[in-house]
Amino acid sequence: MSIEVVLLGTGNPLPDRDRAGAATLVRAGGLTLLVDAGRAVCMRLAAAGVLPFMLDAVFVTHLHSDHICDLNDVVTTHWVMNPARKTLRIFGPPRTNEIMGGMRVMLRPDVEYRIAHHEDLDWEPDLDVAEVSRGVVFEENGVRVTAASTDHRPAEPTIGFRIEHGGRSVVLAGDTVPCADLDELCAGADVYVQTVLRDDLVEMVPMQRFRDTIDYHSTVVQAAQTAARGGVRTLVLTHQIPTPAPGAANEWIGIAREHFSGEIVFGEDLLTVSG
Ligand SMILES: [Zn+2]
Ligand SMILES: [Zn+2]
Repeated sequence: MSIEVVLLGTGNPLPDRDRAGAATLVRAGGLTLLVDAGRAVCMRLAAAGVLPFMLDAVFVTHLHSDHICDLNDVVTTHWVMNPARKTLRIFGPPRTNEIMGGMRVMLRPDVEYRIAHHEDLDWEPDLDVAEVSRGVVFEENGVRVTAASTDHRPAEPTIGFRIEHGGRSVVLAGDTVPCADLDELCAGADVYVQTVLRDDLVEMVPMQRFRDTIDYHSTVVQAAQTAARGGVRTLVLTHQIPTPAPGAANEWIGIAREHFSGEIVFGEDLLTVSG
């Protein structure tokens, strides 16, 4: 038994032709789980053989736009493609209900149009939203999802997830600097997926708003150090800031290598990692 992790989108907030926004697909115990729903998530899901109505649950690490900007597409497609009424479960940090309430308002004309047009569609998107902070938040089919707080201030609260099944475990940390709860979440994990930043490169960008991002993301070095402290098997670098130049993977991996001796994977869209 294993857990399959598909990096759906490895991009950062800057639009890029080859990298979709933050989103990761996790398959375990027959369940199909989505973590974050950034730009073009439904296109990347389709490429991974998943249509939104096949999703069993969605987990949101935090409410920054680059992690949720296409969640409305997931909601609409999950709703309109389902032959029967099916609830979409969404787990996110406090204020997720606020986001989903606003989304319902945004989608109202579309929902009215489609219900008016399709005789067999007489229900609105059925969402079960749970605001979670820490501890076990989901347990089904032998799959357990644990949340822990992360540190991405002033975006707060933010959470990371550990997904376990059959003795395997993967951690989807989201955007965070190293912190004690993240260390606990990562302890002994098979796969640790971390959004990362190269401070040496970002510091050279002559734009303060871009340099501001340094203080609330893990640098590649910090991600490697977290991986080493946790004794994880595989470190996955994703959501790279700045957008890596073509062929730069080995340089990024080399920086992490100085601090972590396990497997290091440089994230690209649709790359699959086994937990
Ligand atoms: Zn963020
Ligand atoms: Zn982000």
